[in-house]
Amino acid sequence: MPELPEVETTRRGVLPWTEGQRVLAVDIREPRLRWPIPDDLPQRLCGQHITAVERRAKYLLFHTAAGSLLVHLGMSGSLRVIRDNSPLLRHDHVQITLASGDRLRYNDPRRFGCMLWLAPGECHPLLSGLGPEPLSEAFSGELLHARARGRRGAVKPFLMDGKVVVGVGNIYANEALFLAGIRPDRPAGKISLARYQRLTVHVKQVLTSAITQGGTTLRDFVGGDGKPGYFAQQLAVYGRGGRPCTRCARPLQEVRLGQRSTVYCVACQR
Ligand code: ZN
Repeated sequence: MPELPEVETTRRGVLPWTEGQRVLAVDIREPRLRWPIPDDLPQRLCGQHITAVERRAKYLLFHTAAGSLLVHLGMSGSLRVIRDNSPLLRHDHVQITLASGDRLRYNDPRRFGCMLWLAPGECHPLLSGLGPEPLSEAFSGELLHARARGRRGAVKPFLMDGKVVVGVGNIYANEALFLAGIRPDRPAGKISLARYQRLTVHVKQVLTSAITQGGTTLRDFVGGDGKPGYFAQQLAVYGRGGRPCTRCARPLQEVRLGQRSTVYCVACQR
């Protein structure tokens, strides 16, 4: 599933080919995504210049003077830029043709993504009530500590709550808690400010490192021969349950927490 680093990498991958471009045509081949693509999307988008490509949480926003195209990649979606005559692939649900002749294609086998239209200045319900971006200054140990007061629930689901901070998916929550030495099932309200400060440093670090790694895949976003390869990463705990801890060599524990796979070290995380 595309996580925040993959969505940011997608933004950076398609940006040079889309920003400043005028939309010539919008071809909707399959409107039935998580929510139906609005019928009037082609009418609204055609003729508009894409003034900026922004990311908020895991949403991409293609801004124009007439409004913004909101895209979510769902579980299996991808966007890529086609610069030649590559044929459409199965699951290429939307094609946006630009004045340059390049085309932006949205592919989504499972169709859990979405493509919606926002009027200028409209804050869509999907975007309202979201917490700060994890790589912004607003995301700090102080913020987590303040938001956690009185919370008895475990810290890991708290960290993955988009109302607290956006874009900390399961993989990154596992990794950051390991690096910060915090047990995923510790009650959020019982963690000190100093430990939350350490945790925010590690959240920023794991996300930044994944985005940097994604930078090496940017050229995969251009070309018709398949979808962008979302990048494999060096992970310390996620997917390594039962294998030795990279710090102390004891076997890592794997449990379900909030229905999500959770891996941690009983010795290194407290
Ligand atoms: Zn350990």
